[in-house]
Amino acid sequence: MTLHHNLIAGEWVGSNGVENINPSNTNEIVGLYATASADDAKTAIAAAKAAFPAWSRSGILERHAILKKTADEILARKEELGNLLAREEGKTLPEAIGETIRAAQIFDFFAGEALRLAGEVLPSARPNIGVEITREPIGVIGIITPWNFPIAIPAWKIAPALCYGNTVVFKPAELVPGCSWAIADILNRAGLPKGVLNLVMGKGSVVGQAMLDSPDLAGITFTGSTGTGKRVAASSIEHNRKFQLEMGGKNPMVVLDDADLTVAVEAAANSGFFSTGQRCTASSRLIVTEGIHDKFVAALTEKLKTLVVDDALKAGTHIGPVVDERQLATDTDYIAIGRQEGAKLAFGGETITRENPGFYLQPTLFTEATNQMRISREEIFGPVASVIRVKDYEEALSVANDTPFGLSAGIATTSLKHATHFKRNSEAGMVMVNLPTAGVDFHVPFGGRKASSFGSREQGKYAAEFFTVVKTAYTLA
Ligand code: ADP
Repeated sequence: MTLHHNLIAGEWVGSNGVENINPSNTNEIVGLYATASADDAKTAIAAAKAAFPAWSRSGILERHAILKKTADEILARKEELGNLLAREEGKTLPEAIGETIRAAQIFDFFAGEALRLAGEVLPSARPNIGVEITREPIGVIGIITPWNFPIAIPAWKIAPALCYGNTVVFKPAELVPGCSWAIADILNRAGLPKGVLNLVMGKGSVVGQAMLDSPDLAGITFTGSTGTGKRVAASSIEHNRKFQLEMGGKNPMVVLDDADLTVAVEAAANSGFFSTGQRCTASSRLIVTEGIHDKFVAALTEKLKTLVVDDALKAGTHIGPVVDERQLATDTDYIAIGRQEGAKLAFGGETITRENPGFYLQPTLFTEATNQMRISREEIFGPVASVIRVKDYEEALSVANDTPFGLSAGIATTSLKHATHFKRNSEAGMVMVNLPTAGVDFHVPFGGRKASSFGSREQGKYAAEFFTVVKTAYTLA
């Protein structure tokens, strides 16, 4: 089996290969991928540092052309890359192709942004002086990504980093090196100069930690767990570098008595269970008012019965497997905790077997949950959601906001008054009305509040805030 190497200083290097296993069929090895050492990470950082002066001064047409070429190739190969993504991560093929198209859209968007770099010219407070405000790249950016969006998250960090003239050391999650390797290969062949993008696949505790410990990274953008996010923050303060964190969520979906039942059930089923619930924007707390509670639970349960859990590549599968054994154990542990805490298991709760050995779990719905239970406070990151019964809108809003997290929040209602009030008073970074809490556009800001996120927003033109630094220049006329 071909070994996929790391990309350091423009060379494909490395030996020790680890197997990338398909969670839909653990007998299938998706590929063999090199693991970097801490020294490899240091070499990659040095290469990115050496490449920075020339790349930061490169012309906007060069950056535009490379990002555009990358977008075009990803789009042209969407079926093949989507297939790779589905096999390494376990989301269904349509979801995986959709994510691949998203990655292409992101590269395309930032190809355009390279041509739209702008500053400001202002009069000074003093006569005969002009003031210019410009944005400059910050230097070498460390990119550390999770396993749940193997192509979109790398794209939304790499594309803006390169667009604004930074160089990159990129460490993908161990479970999903395939799509990251493909992005590095495409960018490399699109003409990126040596050292501008370095790929170091391997363990977080080794490669990731070497990045955190480096004084030569000007910024780290991270998506992953709260625990690792705290390490990124502490090390970044020590090294006086910028950092941007996207971490967990415990996203509420409020369903009011006046909701359109079909809209509410579709939104809850989608955001609670699609992508196997492995999205930081998934709804795991369904906060439902008394008048619609029983009808909503009955309709959602009926809907869950129709969802097919099977191999990610099989036509007709709605929910693929859980990503690996460790995550499956976490999910089943939380299901046991929910039962012990007194929540009622309304649907699912069991692991299931399919034709091939894989990590299959039924979509699981709890009812009669309270907002104080652990299943309502801690992120599970699986196809598990709980219904919390509330009296009215006021209580629903208060429960929705009573959480350490604040990424996304949704409401299903036909009341303009309540929708408007919820948009204004939700303590989340993203608010959805009559839509799933998951599923966002690529050209607008993404991010949360409280323990979900730290630093400026990702995506769209707001990404410039993290990937550039502002300079104010004064000139005597
Ligand atoms: P998850 O539980 O979702 O895997 P992690 O925070 O462990 O979340 O992983 C997110 C990313 O952070 C992965 O690329 C992982 O390898 C990396 N990572 C894990 N531990 C460290 C660490 N000590 N230093 C830097 N990166 C790490």
